Amino acid sequence: MTAEGDLAKAREHLRSGDGRRAVDAGWRAANAALLKGDAEVLRGVIEVADAVALEPAGRAGRRAEQLATYCRLSLDGANEVVESHSILARISRMRRPRRTCPDCAEQIAAEARVCRFCGFRLDGA
Ligand SMILES: [Zn+2]
Repeated sequence: MTAEGDLAKAREHLRSGDGRRAVDAGWRAANAALLKGDAEVLRGVIEVADAVALEPAGRAGRRAEQLATYCRLSLDGANEVVESHSILARISRMRRPRRTCPDCAEQIAAEARVCRFCGFRLDGA
């Protein structure tokens, strides 16, 4: 499910008055959006979460508030979060020497004897 798809689901649940499911879908959308640095989806999730939080009978109200806060904080730091993700990726790639699998062209550990992506044997055995 994409961030947009989960956001659409959250809006559907909100329309049908199911705050709990709306918040669940909202969390999924928010996490997916955060990985992509998709501020537009995060703003959409905030709308849904705020609407759920305003509903009087909501047992989902507290979780909706947390979701809205989480999205707002993520939105403030959206660029930094995306940046630190790529820095982490760069560090973990640097930590161990890599090479390219001759069969599927994925990046694998230099000392690997079998490609973890395609099963290609690299030791020639
Ligand atoms: Zn491979």
